[in-house]
Formats: sequence, structure tokens, C-alpha cells
Amino acid sequence: MRIGIGYDIHRFDGKRPLKLGGVTIPHARGLAGHSDADVLLHALADALFGALGEPDLGEQFPPSDPRWRNADSRTFIKTACAAMRRRGLAVGNVDTTVIADAPKLTGYKRRMSRAISALLGVAPDQVSVKGKTTEGLAPGKAGIAAHAVVLLTAAQGSRLKARGRSRGR
Ligand code: MG
Repeated sequence: MRIGIGYDIHRFDGKRPLKLGGVTIPHARGLAGHSDADVLLHALADALFGALGEPDLGEQFPPSDPRWRNADSRTFIKTACAAMRRRGLAVGNVDTTVIADAPKLTGYKRRMSRAISALLGVAPDQVSVKGKTTEGLAPGKAGIAAHAVVLLTAAQGSRLKARGRSRGR
């Protein structure tokens, strides 16, 4: 098993749509960032890369690179998942917390967890998205932050292969 932790924070930027977990959420302000600024997917990508012992999101997709300008952050997750599969690993479960005083996320948590589970190719009950406010304290007023923890386990096929090898010895 491998475990990974990820964190991210983005400032509000009025000019962009708000993306969280790959879901567009109606709100007066989106988030500033080089890519689509999906703070939840960024935290998740770093948790996945961390679990794999790979360089962090900023190192793999530097904001200085014009290729990632307005990039769909689901690309980062797909890259991490491809690396995970190459290592014979699969997602056990994902737990996340989004910290935002606004908008209210209650109506969107299930939609976000479903979108993330589809992206990872796992069941919705393997992905938790929890909402939290800052009780009006910074940085909740100025932007949105996210934490993510991921547990990776041996993929079905690689586990069978490993068992087969040990039986053969
Ligand atoms: Mg980010």
C-alpha cells in the first residue's frame, strides 16, 4: 500500500468559472490560476504523485509552461493515474476536504465525488468530498483551499501475478 497527501489553495478571481473536482459550480467568482485553477483536483493530483513518490504537480506541470495555460486539471489526474497503473497500483480510496466560506458546497459534494470517481475509474463510495468553512477567518474569504489523502493498493492483476510467483517458488 502507498499513501499520499495533497494540499492546494487559490485566490478568487472574478473573471473565471469556478471549477471544483472537475465540476463547474455557479458562483460570482472563480479562482485565479495558470490552469483552470481546480484547487480540489490539484490537491488530489499532488496526493497521487506523493503516493507514487513522483515530483509534485508544480514540478511536472510548471505554471511557466504555456502548454498548461487554462489547462483542464483532469489532465493532471489522468497523468497521475497512468503513472499509478504503470506501477501496478490502483486507488483504494480518496478522502478530501474543500475549505470555502462561499459558495455553499452542500449541494455539490456528491456531484464532485461522482465526477472524481469517474475520473479515477473507481466506485463513488471510494471518493469522499467533505466541505468546511473557516468560520469567516482568512483564507476562506479570499479563496478556496483543499486537502486530499489517497490510499493506493496493488491492482487486481498485479496481486494475482505476485501470488502466482510466490506459489511457483
Ligand atoms: Mg493549484
